[in-house]
This record gives sequence, C-alpha cells and structure tokens, in this order.
Amino acid sequence: MAKIRELSQILTNQIAAGEVIERPASVVKELVENAIDANSTQIDVYIEEAGLKKVQVTDNGDGIAADEVKLAFTRHATSKIYTQDDLFRIHSLGFRGEALPSIASVAKVSIETAVADQSGTYLSIKGGVIGEEKPNKSRKGTTIIVEDLFYNTPARLKYIRSLQTELSNITDIMNRIALSHPEIAFRLLHEGNQLLHTAGNGDLRQTIAGVYGTLTAKKMKLIENENLDFKVKGYISLPDTTRASRNYITLILNGRFIKNYALNKAIIDGYGSKLMVGRYPLAVIVIEADSLLLDVNVHPSKKEVRISKEKELGELIQSAVAAVLRTEERIPSGIENL
Ligand code: ADP
Ligand code: MG
Repeated sequence: MAKIRELSQILTNQIAAGEVIERPASVVKELVENAIDANSTQIDVYIEEAGLKKVQVTDNGDGIAADEVKLAFTRHATSKIYTQDDLFRIHSLGFRGEALPSIASVAKVSIETAVADQSGTYLSIKGGVIGEEKPNKSRKGTTIIVEDLFYNTPARLKYIRSLQTELSNITDIMNRIALSHPEIAFRLLHEGNQLLHTAGNGDLRQTIAGVYGTLTAKKMKLIENENLDFKVKGYISLPDTTRASRNYITLILNGRFIKNYALNKAIIDGYGSKLMVGRYPLAVIVIEADSLLLDVNVHPSKKEVRISKEKELGELIQSAVAAVLRTEERIPSGIENL
C-alpha cells in the first residue's frame, strides 16, 4: 500500500474540529451563529451538564431544504459565500462551512429542519457517520441537538475543565451574542434554570438589562461618535460602577463580538485616571465599518478580526468615552452618586 494516502472525510473533520470546537461553548457559539445567519428572531438554547451531555439550539429561521441537509454536514459546504469577492465582503457570521461537519465528527448529532411551505427533514449523524434521514413534519426553522460531545475523542475530553468553568464559558458567549443582536430574542436554559433571557425588541439598553440587570443598564451612559470609516455607538458605566475584570467589556463589530486588546484599552484610556487600579468598567460598544476594512479570515474561530485603521477607530472610541465622562462631571451629583 502507498505510504502517502489522503485522509478520510471523518478524519479531516475531526482535525478541523480540533481548531473550531475546543469546548462545549464552541458548539453553542457555532450553532447560535448559524441560527442568526438564518434570519431567526427567536433562538432558544437548552443545555445539560454544561453542554457535555447535551446542547440543543432551536430557531425560527429559514431552515434547510430537504435535499441540502446532508450537504450542510459536508466540509467546506456553505450557503454564505460563493466567490472570492464575497470573501472580502463578509456579511454573515459563518462562511467557512466547517462547523456542522466538525461538530458531527466529535458528537452525536440530530437535526430537524424545515423551510417555509415544505415538510421538513430529520437527519442523525454519529461521529461523522450519517445515520437515519427521513421526512419530518415540522414548522419553519431548525432544531439541532448535540449529545455526548467528544465521546470519541478522549484526549479532548480530558482537556475539559470543571462543569462550572464550562458553564460560565457558555454563559459568557451567550451574553455577548445576545448583546450583539438586540433584534433577536435569546433564551439560555441549563437543566431547567434560565440563565439568560432577552426581549429581542431591538433596543440595546433593554438587552443590556437582560444581561446585566435593569439597575446597571439604567445607569449606563450612551456614547456615540463617527468618522468617514466607522460609526461607534454604545453604553458605558460611570466610574462608580466597575468590575474586577475586563470581561464586562463587549466589542461588537458588524454584528460579531470580537476580542481586541487595543480597542479594549482605548475604552479604558477614555476613563483617564477615573478608574481605581484593578477596576474595569462595563461597556457595550457597537462598531459599524465597511466590510472592506476588515479581515475576518484570520483564525478558524473568527474571534480575532484584522481592522484597517484600527488606531483611528481606537481614538474615536476613546474620545467618545472621555466626552461622556466630562459631561457627567459637570452635572451636579444626582441619583447616580447616592
Ligand atoms: P457556515 O456557517 O460557515 O456556512 P456551517 O457548517 O456552520 O458552515 O453550516 C453549513 C450550512 O448549513 C450553512 O451555510 C447554512 O446554509 C446551513 N445551516 C446551518 N445551520 C443552519 C440553521 N440553523 N438554519 C438554516 N441553515 C443552517
Ligand atoms: Mg456556521
């Protein structure tokens, strides 16, 4: 037999899963982002044992046509980009066509999906092997159930931390996704306990209330700024409302929450010397930019985005934060300082 051989689909999917599906929270993120890309207005996430036993995501989005359900689980199969031009103007959260095949290669997956005016489809896949496929009566939208994550990849299972840690990763990701999409109603339930609920009425402050509580949301201040390339809008806390970690800062760029050290620093720098050492504000900053200024194709998880003119964007954010805090200082102590 030849020494060099092409790997099987299942194996290449498992290798891809190593990059895209690190932990239960990655499954939640990928499935929920798919639901968002499918124009859903209501997305419900049910989990058991911090997602290791079960992650179920139900949406009311476009659904998948009966003759394409299997294809959706094929590597590099996507409905979101078709050409090189599209790659440089990404408007969806997904585009690599890797999530579903990756997840299905390291778990037991079943899907029920239907497009409008058609009867739906049920399909099951276990460890990358296609199981039963049959017509299924269901309403428009999709439910995907992922069970026994990493059951066939013991090395990855060993790497999983405590259930508490995995659960807080899931909550963190769901909070940030919900903040990125005030127009969608999200629910997160862990073994019957509701951990997140947002109204989905399009209002960012009300969405912040769903995530951080009404009192905190009410006290946060609106910031706005723009130049020819970027539009920045969001809410920040005053220096009297801080946290011991940077985790309460959320940056949203064209509907995608991102990690960006320089922009985080720009927010904090906007406070000047008003923050105590080791304390950080709460902030939700929504940035709109021409997709031509962005390169999302940096890492499979798409958490990092390369931004042209990042420095200018940082200055825009910092000055918006500083301006609001200056205004607040001039207002005599009111209810906020009680
Ligand atoms: P990508 O999101 O990068 O396109 P995925 O593997 O995550 O790749 O999904 C493959 C395809 O399956 C998507 O392009 C989309 O057409 C379809 N799909 C996945 N999830 C859903 C969903 N919840 N509703 C409708 N279509 C979906
Ligand atoms: Mg996807």
